[in-house]
Amino acid sequence: MTLAVTPRVATHCPYCALQCGQWVGAGGEVDARDFPTNRGGLCQKGWTSGSLLAHPERLTTPLMRASRSAPFAAVGWDAALGHVAGRLRELQAQHGPDAVAVFGAGGLTNEKAYLLGKFARVALGTSQIDYNGRFCMSSAAAAGNRAFGVDRGLPFPVTDLDDAEVVLLAGANVAETMPPLMGHLGSARLVVVDPRRTPTAERALASGGLHLQPVPGTDLVLALGMLHVAVVDGYLDADYLAERTTGFDDAWRVAAQWWPERAERVCGVPAADMRRAVGWLAGAARRYVLTARGAEQHANGVDTVTSWINLALALGLPGRPGSGFGTITGQGNGQGGREHGQKSDQLPGYRSISDPAARAHVAGVWGVDPDSLPGPGRSATELLAALGRDDGPRALLVFGSNVLVSAPDANAVAERLAALDLLVVADVLPGETAMAADVVLPVAQWAEEEGTMTNLEGRVLRRRRAMAPPGGVRTDLEVISGLADRLGVAGFPAEPQEVFDELRAASAGGISDYSGISYDRLDAGEALHWPCPAPGHPGTPRLFTERFAHPDGRARLIPVDHTPSAELPDADHPLRATTGRVLVHYQSGAQTRRVAELSGVVPESFVEVHPDTAARAGLADGDWARVVSRRGAAEARVRCVPTLRPDTVFLPFHFGGEQAANRVTNPALDPISRMPEFKVSAVRLEPA
Ligand code: SF4
Repeated sequence: MTLAVTPRVATHCPYCALQCGQWVGAGGEVDARDFPTNRGGLCQKGWTSGSLLAHPERLTTPLMRASRSAPFAAVGWDAALGHVAGRLRELQAQHGPDAVAVFGAGGLTNEKAYLLGKFARVALGTSQIDYNGRFCMSSAAAAGNRAFGVDRGLPFPVTDLDDAEVVLLAGANVAETMPPLMGHLGSARLVVVDPRRTPTAERALASGGLHLQPVPGTDLVLALGMLHVAVVDGYLDADYLAERTTGFDDAWRVAAQWWPERAERVCGVPAADMRRAVGWLAGAARRYVLTARGAEQHANGVDTVTSWINLALALGLPGRPGSGFGTITGQGNGQGGREHGQKSDQLPGYRSISDPAARAHVAGVWGVDPDSLPGPGRSATELLAALGRDDGPRALLVFGSNVLVSAPDANAVAERLAALDLLVVADVLPGETAMAADVVLPVAQWAEEEGTMTNLEGRVLRRRRAMAPPGGVRTDLEVISGLADRLGVAGFPAEPQEVFDELRAASAGGISDYSGISYDRLDAGEALHWPCPAPGHPGTPRLFTERFAHPDGRARLIPVDHTPSAELPDADHPLRATTGRVLVHYQSGAQTRRVAELSGVVPESFVEVHPDTAARAGLADGDWARVVSRRGAAEARVRCVPTLRPDTVFLPFHFGGEQAANRVTNPALDPISRMPEFKVSAVRLEPA
């Protein structure tokens, strides 16, 4: 008897930036595949991702309705795309090119991110494009550019962490968000900076390390206190600072005022723990400082990340073999998504849209006059806040994002979406934003299409098609191409390899240069990290080994000082709410809330509260609470957690509607990155 062998393709998980290796069969069966980031492991999200492919709620036909209160009706693609293109042109004729806005995502493939940016600037001529990556990583990106002259999340392969002796994780709960990464930290003593006793913090304590538990919004003070220790206790790497950096004296002038006992009074971390942590970092031969959203999602997120970079530079870590500084990217294509032109201020190749030479290069690839390209537009939060206003966009096209759940101040976002003349959402499943739209376009998902992703190490990976999408579903590239066609604009191919080859040309000579990377090289199994500026170039797995990317080759220490969170507790709102993730859900939860094995584990929102704090609010473990800020309230089931700070509560942000944590969050922005302050809102608790 011959057993049937199901064909399967080598691809990567649809979720986070670790981009674990997967096999996917033609019937949607998922298996773990050995790949350097996951070494044969997957987390629960990856294992169960196949159930999304034939999910009963899949959108399989375009939907339209006459008004927001009317029911959706199924329509054909010609009718849907024709209607959208016609309305876009009408609104632009009435209100100008910026009447149409585009919102992308860090989960889109490189090809989609690139074509979407080109579509906005060339087919629509609008400056109004940004994406949900502005909510994650943009502060780390700005800090990396400022310090090193380039932003690549990890400037070294994940496997370099295998031999680490000491790793400081600032605001990174990787044991929950990307569990296979913990396999690379197995031999390290961990120092975890987090207001919560997360599973990662538990691992730190089990490793003989430390859990440093600052008051939310005071991480920068902790880093200043630790820099003070590095100087006063004699841990500075003076040769490294002299040869490879500038700016130490200015950075020290600020840190000199933050001796550990003073820092302790603000951030709450014992000075003795600061001294122990710095001593371990300084005394190890192989050591890393890694940051993530906990450091970034503040109104001073760029400065907070910078404070950790300053500490790493003072100890001589970045660019040294076996040591380094990195930021852990969250979304699947969080790295590539910010390189190819989805950002309001950028063009492909990580170029500035305000740079005349960059505009000339990209316009040349696109075959347009550089002067015809719009300038910088609004950042994501500002764009959402402007929708439907007199000077704001009248139409919004959303690709791969669920802003009604993921953007800060969700009640205000709902009001702005309701004020639009046209809301179009391309999505796989009926997420909250899609269900608020005028037109819904059903699109393919990861195992149904070809493309590339760039993971947290800057390594470009092939996504491969294991099966055809359901009948009636098109790829995002086909949707963008079809819309451009109906707008009468040529030059928008729908074939992924053709788009990638154009992306390579557009990125050539830029910071993230992909010009030497091809589908053929990736399919042959080459491990290619950008920059890869020529077909025979081996790629660049490690940056900064010889020089940093500033013209003088030196990294910059930048003086940064403490600023209070944009919103502080008062008598009405005496607690600090912070938000984050849980193991079994991803981003807005639009996918994982629909996977029974995942939603069965965490079916509803919860609020972590210290038992004393809960009791003061008249709440007990298991009760339903309202978490009330100055902007709105979220309902959540109380989880009493004795290890949490009594002044802090925690909400996961994966739920919508009444349970949406972002009904509470503060849209205050970092002045440089324009990233919102998801990590600190003043709230009170009351029984629901
Ligand atoms: Fe997927 Fe990330 Fe889990 Fe890996 S760690 S299986 S990439 S969600």
